[in-house]
Amino acid sequence: MTVDNDAAKPGVLRVAINAPLFTPFDYLPPAQLLNSAVGIGSRVRVPVGRRSAIGVVVGHADQSTLSDSALKMVREVLDTTPLFDRSLMQLLRWTADYYHHPLGEVLAMALPKALRQGASITPPVMLWRLSAAGRQALEGAAARRPSQQLSLLRLLAAAPAGLPATDIAAQRPAWRAAARLLRKRGWIECLQGQTAAGALPPSLAPLSSLAPLSSLSSLAPLPAPPSAPPAVQQQRAVQERTPGAPELTPAQRAAVAAIDAAASDYVAFVLQGATGSGKTEVYLQCAERSVARGQSVLILVPEIGLTPQLVERFRQRLNTSLAVLHSGLSDAERLRAWRAAYSGAARVVLGTRSAVFAPLPELGLIVVDEEHDSSFKQQDGGCRYSARDLAVVRAQQNRLPIVLGSATPALESLHNLHRGRYRALLLPRRQDQSEAPRLALVDLRAHAVRHGLSTPVIDAIRRHLAERGQVLVFINRRGYAPTLLCTACGWIAPCRACDARLTVHRGSEQLRCHHCGAVEALPQRCARCGFTVKAVGQGTERIEEALHELFPDEPLVRLDRDTAASAGELQSIFHSVLSGQARIVVGTQMVTKGHHFPGICLVVVLNADQGLFSTDFRAAERLAQTIVQVAGRAGRERIRGEVLIQTECPQHPLLQSLLAGGYEAFATAALEERRAAHWPPFGRLALLRASSLSSEGALQFLAAARARAPALQSVRLLGPVAAAMARRAGRYYAQLLIECSERGPLHRCIDLWLPQLASLAREHRVRYVLDVDPLEIQ
Ligand SMILES: [Zn+2]
Ligand SMILES: [Zn+2]
Repeated sequence: MTVDNDAAKPGVLRVAINAPLFTPFDYLPPAQLLNSAVGIGSRVRVPVGRRSAIGVVVGHADQSTLSDSALKMVREVLDTTPLFDRSLMQLLRWTADYYHHPLGEVLAMALPKALRQGASITPPVMLWRLSAAGRQALEGAAARRPSQQLSLLRLLAAAPAGLPATDIAAQRPAWRAAARLLRKRGWIECLQGQTAAGALPPSLAPLSSLAPLSSLSSLAPLPAPPSAPPAVQQQRAVQERTPGAPELTPAQRAAVAAIDAAASDYVAFVLQGATGSGKTEVYLQCAERSVARGQSVLILVPEIGLTPQLVERFRQRLNTSLAVLHSGLSDAERLRAWRAAYSGAARVVLGTRSAVFAPLPELGLIVVDEEHDSSFKQQDGGCRYSARDLAVVRAQQNRLPIVLGSATPALESLHNLHRGRYRALLLPRRQDQSEAPRLALVDLRAHAVRHGLSTPVIDAIRRHLAERGQVLVFINRRGYAPTLLCTACGWIAPCRACDARLTVHRGSEQLRCHHCGAVEALPQRCARCGFTVKAVGQGTERIEEALHELFPDEPLVRLDRDTAASAGELQSIFHSVLSGQARIVVGTQMVTKGHHFPGICLVVVLNADQGLFSTDFRAAERLAQTIVQVAGRAGRERIRGEVLIQTECPQHPLLQSLLAGGYEAFATAALEERRAAHWPPFGRLALLRASSLSSEGALQFLAAARARAPALQSVRLLGPVAAAMARRAGRYYAQLLIECSERGPLHRCIDLWLPQLASLAREHRVRYVLDVDPLEIQ
């Protein structure tokens, strides 16, 4: 490389590709282009070895460290306008840095599959035009057609290049019927257009570059485009007027006002309110105001399959189009939703975890509903991000308000409130709601228990049913029984691939492993001695059976992943509870998500003790949240609800604090414990997890990794230890905990350490993953 040539060099593009590599590759821009012509955040097709790959431009440089002969040229530029704008790029870089994950993989993770594979961000435009036969007909035969058809023919005749549906609709609102008939005659045709809309920034793109209305199946109707004739706008305004917003309580009004006043500034609000206290109405009104200001809104929810009512409510209330992003979408639906968000056609994106990376021009507000929910944390795969935490970062980077809503905020969020980093907004129970439900413990050691149900619980169920109340029985374990036991020799049906027992599923006559998914036929006899076997313990199926025997005349539904495998089944279960037809509901965690059942006045929590003695320091927090969330389902309008918690340890401090002072009291006590133990949020954690096919491989790898860790004074390494369930789906798991009181040294340590681990892992034949801020440590 000589100095005089440098001036003429077009520069190089730094490209991140979807591969486990921490440094981007250098490429020359395509011939005739300067590197600055290819924007950061644009996709390019580049040669990689003998193949080609799609990568994203992440930087420009004057020159490469590669020799001229090693430097290859970009084959194709796929986006003339960056797919990731500057602010989204900033968030994705932050994600890659914080979670110590390769940027190329993070960028790929943020994209729908179709865009990863090179699909255009601009949907193809369909253009209507006159056919040759149509042109001929216009000179003769067409004169006899009905006026609607004739008028459409004339409109198209005036636009030989063709017209997109949106333009036609603006001038001939009821054109579709006429078009259908004319197309049948072969007088008009619909072809894919060749507009260069993608070359313009989204805000300047002609309206015709948006998908035709009819094809946006995952979107609500689009509002009239700003340039549509006033007549069309008025017509739409009448059709789509927002149904009247309900009257707000003073607390709701104050919350909306506080959030609204923070517009265009970063403020993180914790909106704390029990089920039914009206958090959603606050989100809706704040979203409406942002949209009215011309901004877009991101709303993250834990699960959409369980909350179709929420989507419907947002669709009906917000006078704008809504894009929904969740894991249940097909690739095509996801692409459509992403395009709608990117182009600004959808001003509101409602989605689950990965929607935190949705492109949203002019983003003005972020809402995270049920912010304590663990589904916001990516628990498998490579990049274990927390969508809740990233949403806060996004709000901070973009200087906009974020609302974290929950009846049971995460201890992290409460800690941030106490430190003054977040602001509290409280929604007390509404006046038309009953008092908070009465919580009581039932000591399992002091009462007779039949099929997992104690006498006081059975009596309470009978009493509430007699008073025409609905009853919810919560047990966080599906199936019939967790264990199949031989009473003669003590054999327990094991999973062959996991250190776990198989769960008895009586309905399907199967034994199933809830960890690896293994399925076997349900045996009648012991595999070892041939004696008859017995199902021990309770799951939802068995509780359903027991309740059915006790209350044969009361209609009962079971809500778990086995009975509500499809959205249709789920809807019909919700319907039977809401209509009051079902009198008893037996359910798992699924009952705590989504719907409020106003007819339920007794809630029974059957197996609370599971969470009391876990090795995971967060288990108590999860249990308290679950109990409070389940209890929140109790209490009809003006009738005080009752919650009974069956336990063998009624003196346990967690249960005592919950009983005495509710979630607040629990949280205060739990935060004190965390402070004393230096656990998060008072310390920072990362977990190096490894798995191997041999029983010792993972542990040996972690021991070797530990030996190579840089010695930083404030960073402590704990382990390695085998995971609580060491063998899972045929692999052996172990982990090493990295702890520090501050974020800085922890991340410095990982930065220095991580690059050495790849070759070590190959030597030991293990898989490993780094989990920053792990949610579960078991
Ligand atoms: Zn046996
Ligand atoms: Zn298994």
